[in-house]
Amino acid sequence: IPATTLAMVLLRRPRSAAAVAASPRVAVVRRPRPHPTPTTDRPPDLAVREPVVAFVALGANLGDAQAALARAMDALDRLPHTRVTARSSLYRSAPVDARGPDFVNAVVRVSTRLPAPTLLDELQQLEQAAGRERPYRHAPRTLDLDLLLYGDASIDSPRLTLPHPRMHERAFVLVPLAEIEPSRVTLQALTAVAGQRIERIG
Ligand code: ATP
Ligand code: CA
Ligand code: CA
Repeated sequence: IPATTLAMVLLRRPRSAAAVAASPRVAVVRRPRPHPTPTTDRPPDLAVREPVVAFVALGANLGDAQAALARAMDALDRLPHTRVTARSSLYRSAPVDARGPDFVNAVVRVSTRLPAPTLLDELQQLEQAAGRERPYRHAPRTLDLDLLLYGDASIDSPRLTLPHPRMHERAFVLVPLAEIEPSRVTLQALTAVAGQRIERIG
């Protein structure tokens, strides 16, 4: 057989299974696609188009409650697509629907592009970061963040009710809310909770 023909035969001969197994596997290496540089630290689809004005009630009665509220207000201002646009004073209040020592309370107004359920997720993450535990309902807490109002939204889902269903029963919500947004609290509502002990502490 001429040398060129022999070479073609050898090249075309199928390799034995043993030879295939012994030969190094060829790994297909895909170069990672370059990621677009993110402009925010969250996917853009989490943002709603127009900013919404929302109100968050803060409360704590375990540990250094005043420091916890101050830290939480700063953390709210750092949430994605969210700015704190007003902070009430801090208030001390007797527990209502709750147990343990007196509470420190406040309310902040935020301007946010986060949808309400996403904002609630963020509030719950801040509670967790502050060491919140729920051993039983209304237990003393290092930090409680309730979403009071989200624009004019009315929501009744298993994990989110808006407006907050108990806000009108609570002086510790209505008094700081009236301080920063008097138009959202009627005199009648304030009168209805006038018997609850609450004092401004700065
Ligand atoms: P309260 O709601 O009476 O103030 P709480 O603050 O002690 O009680 P949590 O244990 O903090 O109650 O929350 C219980 C659940 O309430 C949460 O898991 C959350 O899904 C739900 N929830 C419903 N609506 C709201 C809202 N507007 N803001 C915050 N949490 C809400
Ligand atoms: Ca609460
Ligand atoms: Ca809560």
